[in-house]
Amino acid sequence: MKLPYILSLLAMSCALVLGAPAEKKYKEDGCCDKAQKAGGKCEHPCCVKAEKDGKVCEK
Ligand SMILES: [Zn+2]
Ligand SMILES: [Zn+2]
Repeated sequence: MKLPYILSLLAMSCALVLGAPAEKKYKEDGCCDKAQKAGGKCEHPCCVKAEKDGKVCEK
């Protein structure tokens, strides 16, 4: 019975991916966090660049 084992592994990896809520994407009280809470996106060049790379600016 290997299938249930594989399914549980898949479920675990999915949980890890989904474990980080989108709201926690930006650093708390960072420029991007504030911009998102204000209903927009941070327009700092460093943040826009990080966003394009699928990352989050650490400032
Ligand atoms: Zn920013
Ligand atoms: Zn930035």
